[in-house]
Amino acid sequence: MGGALSVATHALRYLAARLGRGPHFLYVPVTAREDCEYLPDHHTGRPWATAERSPAEAAESLEQHLRPSVATVMFGGGEPFLRPDLPAQCRRAARGGRTVIVKTFGGPSVSAAAVREVFDAGISLFSVLILSRDHETHNSLFARPGMCRRAFDTLLRARDICGHHALTPRRGRVGALVDVGGRNLDELPDLAAWLLREGVGVSLRAMRRFAGAAPVAPGWRVGVEDQARVERAFSRLARLGRGVKYADHARRGLAGGAPRWPCDAGRAYLVLTPDGSLCPCPYQPGPGGNGVARAAFAEYARRVAAECPGCTAPCWREVSARVRRPDRAPQAASAGNGP
Ligand code: SF4
Repeated sequence: MGGALSVATHALRYLAARLGRGPHFLYVPVTAREDCEYLPDHHTGRPWATAERSPAEAAESLEQHLRPSVATVMFGGGEPFLRPDLPAQCRRAARGGRTVIVKTFGGPSVSAAAVREVFDAGISLFSVLILSRDHETHNSLFARPGMCRRAFDTLLRARDICGHHALTPRRGRVGALVDVGGRNLDELPDLAAWLLREGVGVSLRAMRRFAGAAPVAPGWRVGVEDQARVERAFSRLARLGRGVKYADHARRGLAGGAPRWPCDAGRAYLVLTPDGSLCPCPYQPGPGGNGVARAAFAEYARRVAAECPGCTAPCWREVSARVRRPDRAPQAASAGNGP
């Protein structure tokens, strides 16, 4: 009965999004503060202000944007665990059977107690950014030392908390978001196989976020001369079956062609920034200021998406595609490990 109700609710949310009554996926970076500095994010830049709202203001702002069309809410940052009200925000978002995702770098702010709290708040997916099992490779993209050990500790701790090994009912899923670039390309199939064996989902994203973007860091660039390596890595990955999400989008992002796709930024999905203003997607600034009229925002977002050269974020592509395709309605709430 609960399952049938949940499918019906998701179908209604999907229908509302399709009719343009609001976004289907809401991304909420709760803070711009960090505890580890992930260098590719600094390279790409974040389009939102650093000011953030008080817990009461953040709760009010979230409530306003949890429209009937919203099926998935993803919390990120900065490092979302720096906000003590993260579990309260997760609980609020999970009401009405929404899929709630928490995306973290697994840095020093992520204690076992904090992970347990977000699972208790009803999240569906806990996602940790993973680059490599080799410490030097993983740590090379963080300003803070020791991030590899921390990220894997967080990932496996979350896996245990959500019930992979326990006899208690499973409370959610745990996934690794793997940013793929030159230094982890050859290791990728083995890394993905290991993660799947450990009961962790795998979702891939090409590190070069935009068409024509400059290299993210020395050694991580993937160029024309690396395409044989790309093909080798992804054909080995394909043998792992369907457990690896977004492999095709990541491969195309690494192949250097402009990853253009019909993007519904600002319509199918939306970003609610730490200061409560809106952006069409995590890579494009908003029209400025809070409380911009809906029609003006929609027009602004349409123009931004039309002029954008495309990006390698697979989740946004998936949400856009699903909202456009009526036959995919019931699955629309479960988009990936986050972009
Ligand atoms: S393609 Fe869409 S989601 Fe990607 S950066 Fe451009 S506007 Fe944003």
